[in-house]
Amino acid sequence: MKVVIIGNGIAGITTARHIRKQSDHEILVISAESEHFFSRTALMYIYIGHMKYQHTKPYEDWFWEKNRINLHKAYINTIDFDTNTLKTANREEISYDKLVIATGSVTKKIGWPGENLKGVQGLYSKQDVELMETNTQNVKHAVIVGGGLIGIEMAEMLHSRGIEVTFLIRENNYWNSVLPIEEAMLVSRHIAEHGINLIPNTELEEIIGDNDGRVKAVKTKTGKTIDCEFVALTTGVTPNIDFLKESALETDRGILVNDFLETNIPNVYALGDCAQFKNPKENHPPVEQLWYTGKMQGKALAKTICGQKTKYERGIWFNSAKFLDIEYQTYGLMFNKPFATEDTFYWEHPKGKIGMRANFSKTDGSLSGFNFFGMRFKQTVADTWIRNGNHISNCIAQLNEGFFDAEFNKNHHKKIVESFNTAHPKHQATIAKKKKFLIF
Ligand SMILES: Cc1cc2nc3c(=O)[nH]c(=O)nc-3n(C[C@H](O)[C@H](O)[C@H](O)COP(=O)(O)OP(=O)(O)OC[C@H]3O[C@@H](n4cnc5c(N)ncnc54)[C@H](O)[C@@H]3O)c2cc1C
Repeated sequence: MKVVIIGNGIAGITTARHIRKQSDHEILVISAESEHFFSRTALMYIYIGHMKYQHTKPYEDWFWEKNRINLHKAYINTIDFDTNTLKTANREEISYDKLVIATGSVTKKIGWPGENLKGVQGLYSKQDVELMETNTQNVKHAVIVGGGLIGIEMAEMLHSRGIEVTFLIRENNYWNSVLPIEEAMLVSRHIAEHGINLIPNTELEEIIGDNDGRVKAVKTKTGKTIDCEFVALTTGVTPNIDFLKESALETDRGILVNDFLETNIPNVYALGDCAQFKNPKENHPPVEQLWYTGKMQGKALAKTICGQKTKYERGIWFNSAKFLDIEYQTYGLMFNKPFATEDTFYWEHPKGKIGMRANFSKTDGSLSGFNFFGMRFKQTVADTWIRNGNHISNCIAQLNEGFFDAEFNKNHHKKIVESFNTAHPKHQATIAKKKKFLIF
């Protein structure tokens, strides 16, 4: 059987690797962006100078041939689902028995006047980093439009080159559409401390160009003009499926799939950033644009393709990121406000760079999620506690079980417990005394 995979990102490559582990199927991975799989999440470090492109490749180049995973660098223009044939931009025809579409995302364009000027771009691909390298030569002032995770990465990238950065966000505070206000304020302060000019409650009206078609300023909806020679558009990404829009494949924002990652066409599957779940779990996004979910989907799909039909089960939600120097981890469904059925507890260190939140049920006190800022907490511990619905008092009392850097967090733990007991007197947390063993 010949399995063809379009896209060599985390979703496509995980599928290929796991099909190889379980079968002798012929595997061909086609991708237009790069010869080999690389870590998209590390792109920023190439620009900053901490890594070279070759360091972002998780596997040596010989790995693919050794494991009989054929790679082909080409762009797929069309798919004929009646004859199971792909056509490349070079007019090659490639047949398949089973097809996996893992084409990822592209930067979302809003249709702003001037968004196609020279010096205006987003950050998604390897080519985007190369373009950014060219676009930011001799740039003194850059404007970033839109908060979120890519926005702050671009701010850090530009800042690392000594470029003055103005960061326009629609919300009151950084990423307040996702983060609760206290955490959004913590990160906003941190951004300002780095000398990045974060301007809240501001929307872009237009991008203004010079006579050579290069950006020279942006105008905000409040009529303010900000001079700049580079504009980063970071208002999100969208599934990369334009080349499939006229086909028989059912699409909406992304390619519509069921829980087995099957599309409406037999033997055709989609996963990763380009897929959209027809029936997402309650409160879960239908399009999952995350590295770790792409990996989990790839593992599930490989089993299905190898004859063991397997549902994709995401389990307890988690994610992690870094806001300049502040590490962030989230476990469970944590939004900018708790659900009506939940209570919340937030603690922040007086220096304002470390914080944690726990949400829990108002009725039975069971833990539903955590946010951690500036402190590391083990995923296995958070996952188990949320899955088992452990009582909030026990969780707060036993936080030390999850802290990575336990010694460093020892003092914080006591403060967190005191703060919790004051804020939620009906749920008292008590740190268990360490048993002392006498050695004779
Ligand atoms: C700067 C940045 C930082 C990020 N940081 C994080 C993070 O910290 N944590 C996290 O969880 N997620 C992060 N993400 C998101 C994460 O990287 C993506 O969710 C993930 O890489 C998507 O994987 P994928 O395999 O679905 O698609 P992709 O990695 O996008 O791979 C798809 C590939 O298919 C190719 N392709 C598309 N169409 C065609 C075609 N017609 N023919 C041939 N090839 C085609 C594309 O060129 C691309 O190479 C980040 C993303 C970016 C851009």
